[in-house]
Amino acid sequence: MEYYQQPVAEVFRSLNSTEKGLTEAAATQAQEQWGPNEIQSAKGKTVWGILLNQFKDFMILVLLVAAVISGFMGELVDTIAIVVIVLVNAVLGFVQEFRAEKAMQALKQMAVANARIMREGVVGTRPAVGLVPGDVVLLEAGDIVPADLRLFEANALKAEEASLTGESAPVDKKTDALTEESLPLGDRANMAYKSTLVTFGKGRGVVVATGMNTELGRIATMLDEAEVATPLQRRLSQLGKRLALIVLIICAIVFAFGLLRGERPVLMLLTAISLAVAAIPEALPSLVSITLALGARRMAGQKALVRNLPAVETLGSVTYICSDKTGTLTENRMTVEKVFARGEIWNEQTWAEAFKDPDQQGLLQAMALNNNVEPNKEGGLTGDPTEIALYNLASQLGVTRQQALEQFPISAEIPFDSDRKLMTTIHRTDDGYWLITKGAVDVLLERVSGISDGDREQYQQVNEQMSGDGLRVLGFAEKKLAQLPDRLDADTVEQDLQLIGLAGIIDPPREEAKAAIAECRKAGIRPMMITGDHPLTARNIAERLGMVEPGGRALSGSELSKMSEEEFAKTVPQVFVYARVSPEQKLNIVKALQAAGQFVAMTGDGVNDAPSLKRSDIGVAMGITGTDVSKEAADLILLDDNFATIVKAVRSGRRIYDNIRKFIKYAMTGNTGEIWVIFLAPFFGLPIPLLPVHILWVNLVTDGLPGLALAMEPAEKDIMNRPPRHPKESVFAGGLGVHIIWVGLLLGFVSIFTQYLYIDSSKWQTMVFTVLCFSQMGHVFAIRSDRESLFSQGIFSNKALLGAVLLTLLLQLAVIYVPWLQPIFRTQALTLSELGIAVGLSSIVFIAVEIEKILKRKKRPLPKAA
Ligand code: ATP
Repeated sequence: MEYYQQPVAEVFRSLNSTEKGLTEAAATQAQEQWGPNEIQSAKGKTVWGILLNQFKDFMILVLLVAAVISGFMGELVDTIAIVVIVLVNAVLGFVQEFRAEKAMQALKQMAVANARIMREGVVGTRPAVGLVPGDVVLLEAGDIVPADLRLFEANALKAEEASLTGESAPVDKKTDALTEESLPLGDRANMAYKSTLVTFGKGRGVVVATGMNTELGRIATMLDEAEVATPLQRRLSQLGKRLALIVLIICAIVFAFGLLRGERPVLMLLTAISLAVAAIPEALPSLVSITLALGARRMAGQKALVRNLPAVETLGSVTYICSDKTGTLTENRMTVEKVFARGEIWNEQTWAEAFKDPDQQGLLQAMALNNNVEPNKEGGLTGDPTEIALYNLASQLGVTRQQALEQFPISAEIPFDSDRKLMTTIHRTDDGYWLITKGAVDVLLERVSGISDGDREQYQQVNEQMSGDGLRVLGFAEKKLAQLPDRLDADTVEQDLQLIGLAGIIDPPREEAKAAIAECRKAGIRPMMITGDHPLTARNIAERLGMVEPGGRALSGSELSKMSEEEFAKTVPQVFVYARVSPEQKLNIVKALQAAGQFVAMTGDGVNDAPSLKRSDIGVAMGITGTDVSKEAADLILLDDNFATIVKAVRSGRRIYDNIRKFIKYAMTGNTGEIWVIFLAPFFGLPIPLLPVHILWVNLVTDGLPGLALAMEPAEKDIMNRPPRHPKESVFAGGLGVHIIWVGLLLGFVSIFTQYLYIDSSKWQTMVFTVLCFSQMGHVFAIRSDRESLFSQGIFSNKALLGAVLLTLLLQLAVIYVPWLQPIFRTQALTLSELGIAVGLSSIVFIAVEIEKILKRKKRPLPKAA
C-alpha cells in the first residue's frame, strides 16, 4: 500500500516515528541507511576537466603540433621552450580556474536549503540534506518542501506542484487517507513532494522518502545546471570570433611576406602561429567568469550572496533599488510603544495601571494568542518580530501565551498573508468559540460592523496619528462564534468583527541605511520604498532616511489601483514611497520602471514576491527572514537583510566590471602592440623583430601575471559618484577602444624605433624584446585608474600588481642574464647603459598614458577627496 492510502498512525508505525519526530540516535542511524537527502546532479568540474580545459584552445593545439614538427626538423631548443611556456600558461590558467571553481562551490554551500523539523519533540532548523524518512517536517507558506512527506496536519495548506505535475494552480492539502488505487501525483492531497512550493497556510508531515527516492529524484536522475554566459561574456566571445578572423589574415600576410623575404618556412610558420596564439583573445570569456566568481566570493564575505554570476556584472547598471521597509530599511527590532483602547492612548508609564481593568484583559489575551511565537532552544523566541513585540507586551503585563492557550485552546487559524494583511485565530471557550483577528487597521475597519461613526473616526484618527509618528500600527478585533465555520475562508470568516484596540509598534530605521541612501543618490541610483505598511508610517521612515524630502509624495496601493495605465507608467518613476502595496502591484511597479528604460533591483521576502523578484533585473532576497521561495527566485541574497548591503554589492559590481575592463584594456593593447611590431617592421625594411618564444613569452608571462593582478585593483575614487553604466553599453565605451588602438600603435612604434636604433648591434633583438616587456609594465601601472594619476593613487595601493610587475621584471632580467636561458631565448646580456636606455624608451608609453589621463581629468575632474 502506498503512503497516501494509509492512515497517519500506520505511516508513523511503519517509519518507527511519532508526531514528536525521531530521536537523534534513530536519525543518525537512518542517515547511514538512506544517505543524504540530495538529488544527484552532474557534479561540478573535476580537477582533470579543468586541466584539460586549458588545452582546448584550438590555436594552442596548433602551436604545440607545429612546435613538435619543428623539433623533428632540428630546432629542439625552440620546441622545448615553446612547450614549457605553454605548460606554464596552462598551470596559471588551471590555478585560476580551480580557485574560481572552489569559490563557486563555497557559494553554493552557503545557499543550502534548510528545513524546520521536529526531533525528540523540539523544533529546530537544520540543513535539508540531513533529513531522513521518519523525520517530522514543519511547513509554512514560502517553504520549498524539503523531501516527500505524508501530511498529518494541514492548516489551509496549499502547494504549487507545477515542477512535478505541470499544474500551476496551487492544490489544497488534506490529511485523511485516500483509498483509491494508483492516484496520479497531483491528486494525492495528503502528500507534499520535494521541491514543490508551499504557497499558503501551515502544516506538518512525516518524511517518507528522501534524495533520489523522492518523486523528483525518480524523474530527475541527472540534473544538469546549465552554465549561463553573462552579457559581457557573450559579447566578448562574439568579438573574439571576429578578431580571430582578422588576426588569422594578418598572420597569413606575415607568413607570406616572411617567405618572400627568404626567411625559413618553419620559422615563419611558428612565428605566424605564435602571433595568432598571442593575439586572439580566446581566453577573455573564461577570464571574465573567473573574475566574476572570485568577486562573488568576496561579496559573500560582505554578506551579499550572489546566486547568478551574471548579476555580479550587471549590478553596476542598477538605476533603481526598490526595497521593502521592515527589516531592510529598519532594524526589525520591534517594541510596542503605544496602545489605544477604551478611547485612550496608553504608553509604558500608564498601561500597567490601565490593563488592570478586567475589561481590557481580552486585548492582552488576544495579543498573547493571535501569533506564532515559540520559545526556542536557546532560550529566546522564534517568530515574526511584530508578533514577538505583542507577545512580549502581553507577558510583561501578566498574560503569557502558554496560560492563555490553556484557557483558550486553538482550534483553527487563517495565517497572515501580505495580500490580506490580516491574521485570524479561533479559540475554544466554555460556551463556543472566540475569533481574534489582527492586522492593518484600515483593512480591519472594512470588516467591522455595528461601530458608531464617532468610534470609527476616532480609530482612524488614532491610526493616522500613530502612523504619522512612524509607528507600525496593528489593530485587534474579535467576535464570538457558536461553532467552527465549515470552511476557513478568509473572506467570509473575517467579517462582522468588533474592534478591541490598537498597538503602535516602533521599528527604528537602520543607521547605516541612511548613509547608503545618500550614497545611492550620488551614484545616480534612486532608492524606492515599497511596503505593505501604512502610508504615513512609510513616509515618516522614508523622510527620516532621506529617501524623500519632508512632505514628499507617498502613494498607497489603493491610489495606484485607481490610476489608468498611462498615468501609472508616468507616475511610478517619479514617486519613491509606496505603501499598502500588494505583491501584484509590486510587480507592476517593476514592469513600469523597466518600460521606462530603468534597470531595477527589487527586494522581497514573501512567497508572493517571487514574481517581482524574477521579473526585476536584480532580484534581492532576505537571508534571515526570507522564504525559500523568494530566495530561489532571487539573484542576490542579503545574508544580513540589510539595505546597505545592496549598495555595497552595487559598489562591488561596479568595481569588478571596471577591473575586467582594465584587464581587457591591458591585454588587448599589448596584443595589438605585438601585432604592429611584427606586421610593420618589414615595411620599414627591418627583419621580423621577435622570435616565436619572445612572442609567447610576452603574451603569456608579461601580459598574464600583471593582468591577473588587475583584478585586485581597489575601487576608483569616483566609483559611486558616477551614473550607472547602461546595461547595453559596449565594453569599449568611454575611450577604451580608442586607447587600445593608439597605445597599441605607440607600443609598436617604440619597439620598431628601438630595433632601428640598434639594428647594427648584435643585441638589437634583446633590446626590442626588453623594451616591449618593460613598456607593458609601465602601461599596466598607468591604466590602474581611468583618470587618476598613478602618483596620486600611490604605487602601493595595489600590492598584488606591484608584486606581479616586480616578478615579471625579474623574470625578464633572468631571461637576459642567466647564461643557460640565453641560448633558449636567443638573448645577450645588456650593459647597464643599454638597460638604462631600454628603461628610458619603455617609459614613453607610461608618460603618454599619464598625459591621456590628464586630458581626461580636464574634461571631467576627479571628485574631491572626502
Ligand atoms: P515590507 O517588508 O514590505 O516593508 P511590511 O512588513 O510593512 O512590508 P507586510 O509584512 O506585508 O508588510 O505587512 C503589511 C501589513 O500587514 C502591516 O502593515 C501590518 O498591518 C499587517 N501585518 C504584518 N504582520 C502581521 C501579522 N503577523 N499579523 C497580522 N497582521 C500583520
